[in-house]
Amino acid sequence: MSETVERVRSYTFEEFVDRVKSFHGYEAIGVIIGGFMIDLAYSRLPENGLIDAVCETSKCLPDAVQLLTPCTLGNGWVRVINVGRFAVTLYDKRTGEGIRVFVDPAKIGAWPELEAWFFKLKTKKEQDPEDLLKEARRARADMCGLQAVKVADWVRKPRHHGRFVVCPVCKESYPADDGETCLACQGKLAIEGHDRSSEPYFVLLENL
Ligand code: ZN
Repeated sequence: MSETVERVRSYTFEEFVDRVKSFHGYEAIGVIIGGFMIDLAYSRLPENGLIDAVCETSKCLPDAVQLLTPCTLGNGWVRVINVGRFAVTLYDKRTGEGIRVFVDPAKIGAWPELEAWFFKLKTKKEQDPEDLLKEARRARADMCGLQAVKVADWVRKPRHHGRFVVCPVCKESYPADDGETCLACQGKLAIEGHDRSSEPYFVLLENL
């Protein structure tokens, strides 16, 4: 394997695996494959673009984006639109044009360990993490499809530029656009990709 093929963005493969371990907590195969997917997307993007990202799952991919791009969940340059597909789009924030990389079921059959992992055909116990990592390293993004896309305006629009006010119920600040009280006090709680819930999202044990 040549030097260029073995790299994941600016890292050697080993360095990248170490970064994944320290950031994600363990050598998650999803983050490693995510790294290959991002590497592939970058290879198709113009140099020096201002890149934003969308992940279509909250699992693993957002961590790969945060490790390998300037986009973090905190700076808002990566958004999660959680439809449960293992796909990531990197796009130019000025034009919305970009590259979508997704795991393609029509291609993954050539990689039996990855297929078993992806479709959860084996339990964690049955799966040998060494074999899986080895196969992922050989496959890189070979089981992925690639699309040129234009990201819609509603995704690119910045959120909440309006005023913040104090909620009359909980006395904390919230975006005034959300209504008379904050969303928590309206009972509009949401974990991305799931139905809104009217359940309180925490129980107060003690005020410190
Ligand atoms: Zn409130």
